[in-house]
Amino acid sequence: MSPHAPHPEIALAACATLGEGALWDHHTATLLWVDILEKRVMRFDPRTGRNQVLQLDTLVGTVVPTERGALLVAVREGLARLDPSTGQLSGLVTPPGHDPQKVRFNDGKCDALGRLWAGSMALDESPGQGALYSLDVSGTLQQHLSRVSISNGLAWNADSTRMYYVDTPRRIVDAFDFDLASGQISGRRTAIEFTPADGYPDGMTIDVEGLLWVAMWGGSAVLRCDPSSGRILERVAFPASHITSCAFGGPNRDTLYVTSARVGLSEEKLAREPHAGALFAWPAPVAGVPARYFRD
Ligand code: ZN
Repeated sequence: MSPHAPHPEIALAACATLGEGALWDHHTATLLWVDILEKRVMRFDPRTGRNQVLQLDTLVGTVVPTERGALLVAVREGLARLDPSTGQLSGLVTPPGHDPQKVRFNDGKCDALGRLWAGSMALDESPGQGALYSLDVSGTLQQHLSRVSISNGLAWNADSTRMYYVDTPRRIVDAFDFDLASGQISGRRTAIEFTPADGYPDGMTIDVEGLLWVAMWGGSAVLRCDPSSGRILERVAFPASHITSCAFGGPNRDTLYVTSARVGLSEEKLAREPHAGALFAWPAPVAGVPARYFRD
């Protein structure tokens, strides 16, 4: 990172327990995000500073907008529609073999044909209990991966021929060949490998140059990485250890919104990190690829 790079600003002093799932909804020019452990779906409007909260009664791992203005959420029990005006869930789809007593949904994103991809993890973080699924427009759910530990960080390249994926404890960004028409993945390989000093990869997004921006849990940073060489090109530091997800937003899609968490930090560490749990904004040198909407 160049010495002249700007510092991140606090967009919202949110004090989130586990802020996650940042996604810029360009239809409304607002940022969707969640607090998984506080069971909240939120919509932040940077023009007004208002953060609208939908309080759910279940753990919510991710939120995506639909083309018709509703929301889809990945909750502890499965994937469901969320009415943004009432907060009511409907049309819950629970995958076969998904036991919400042991497993919950975590991060997810839509592909270019409007399918929702979302994965799961064990509530106690025991390894290999999660899976990766997709839900298509017709409501068909498919399982693509099993024995996932903490499913995170989905992104696709510009022509949707590649999908990038994170299973956090492996400290790796995986690349897959992606068949957009059929919605199938194949050819799993390592694209980026992190060191213990980097922290753990969590959420991620992709810019118009095809480079990944990876939020690092325990790394106080977002790293810009080249998935074709595996190299880390830039490190953006944030004043919080647990950086969890990021999304390009704003009128030119060149503000990087970054979520963070307070969970897992000792009282002593929290005292030293008063901004842990904030929603940060950082003026990026590049624009992001627009998020996709669930097709409904
Ligand atoms: Zn995550």
